[in-house]
Amino acid sequence: MTEPAEHAAYRAGVRAWYDANATPKRAEDPWAINVHADEAAARRHFEESRAWLGRLHEAGLVGIAWPAEYGGGGGEPWMSRIEREISRDYEEWTGFPGATLAMLGPTLLRHGTEDQKRRVLPELLSGRSTFCQLFSEPGAGSDLASLATRAERDGDEFVVNGQKVWNSAAQHCDRGFILVRTDPDAPKHRGITFLLVDMATPGIEVRPLVQINRSAHFNEVFLQDVRVPVANVVGEIDEGWGPARTVLSNESAFIAGARVPTRTKLTDLAGIGGRLGDPVIRQRLADYHARERVSGWMGEQVQQAVRRGEMPPMDPGLIKLMASENKRRAGDLAVELLGAEAQAGTDPRTRWAQNELMGRYSISIGGGTDEVLRNNIGERSLGLPREPGPDRSTPWRDLPR
Ligand SMILES: Cc1cc2nc3c(=O)[nH]c(=O)nc-3n(C[C@H](O)[C@H](O)[C@H](O)COP(=O)(O)OP(=O)(O)OC[C@H]3O[C@@H](n4cnc5c(N)ncnc54)[C@H](O)[C@@H]3O)c2cc1C
Repeated sequence: MTEPAEHAAYRAGVRAWYDANATPKRAEDPWAINVHADEAAARRHFEESRAWLGRLHEAGLVGIAWPAEYGGGGGEPWMSRIEREISRDYEEWTGFPGATLAMLGPTLLRHGTEDQKRRVLPELLSGRSTFCQLFSEPGAGSDLASLATRAERDGDEFVVNGQKVWNSAAQHCDRGFILVRTDPDAPKHRGITFLLVDMATPGIEVRPLVQINRSAHFNEVFLQDVRVPVANVVGEIDEGWGPARTVLSNESAFIAGARVPTRTKLTDLAGIGGRLGDPVIRQRLADYHARERVSGWMGEQVQQAVRRGEMPPMDPGLIKLMASENKRRAGDLAVELLGAEAQAGTDPRTRWAQNELMGRYSISIGGGTDEVLRNNIGERSLGLPREPGPDRSTPWRDLPR
């Protein structure tokens, strides 16, 4: 199918900009992995991603279809699709700031006040402000609505006390979006408020959590008497569950869409090990190839709906679940293709395979665990009976914790 002339002209312009400003992917080490074992490297990577987002924004290549009055390009969703396709051929990427943009941007567009849209969206699009997600707590992960961080009203401010955990990149971000309990007497999904918070506010302490791979992707965030203006409420007071669900839905769509295709790398590994003629390996490579292509197309459909501000044609959790399953299969196959080398080797190829193997845990937990996504799909898409649990009208204060 030939592309309309207008699309082809736009594509040529975007391609020319990338050629002039970015590094083609083929120059990249094909087995490079994105793990930063020291804090300085992680910070550098974060700032490079932020700067790249800023350059894309200056060139009109971020928020292409968002309203111009909020810092977007006022363009068409097909333009965003073309930009996304082209960007995959280059090394530079928008990293964590791009991820929060994908989660928080549509949430502010849908639930934010006019003032928030005019002030915050341009900062988000240009990378001038980066936001971490402050949702999970030690006692509220899958059951996020049971969260206990309290916010009490004091004039034009809320005073926030509590603890968050697993907050990606919170040590690098200047701002955050947080869920707090404002009415403990309401049922748990009510009485939650969604706030924007400045991470430099007195009373916020961020403690990085170092993982088995020595990187500190997440943090614990402690909040003691943190004062947040009431003007920073997104949506309505006590009705923060709506914007929270918009974030979670966009997070699923983003995580699924951001998965870097690995099918060619797996085929390369099979070739290097002389296994391309092995009928069982061929079956598994073909199976993996099909799964990755199908989930990629499904992800694109969801992304297009998000860009148009429409309801996705399927539950984004479905694609996130497929991405998680694909990661598991890719890790298993990569390690099997390398054999014993996968256990002990330290060369870039082996480290890539080990990273695929280990990466299954983060993708199957972050943004909703596989089990919880299956529950959601069962209830929302298949109409299965709700999971047994406390009555949804029980006040949060009376729930067992
Ligand atoms: C890479 C990554 C990035 C993250 N980034 C952030 C972030 O930026 N901000 C943030 O706030 N949080 C973040 N998280 C936290 C994430 O949202 C939680 O880890 C997740 O929601 C699960 O919560 P939990 O860890 O408390 O596990 P739990 O909820 O305690 O679950 C433990 C186990 O029980 C299972 N389980 C729980 N409930 C059910 C059920 N009803 N039915 C069946 N099985 C169930 C789960 O599937 C899981 O296997 C991140 C996590 C990861 C891995």
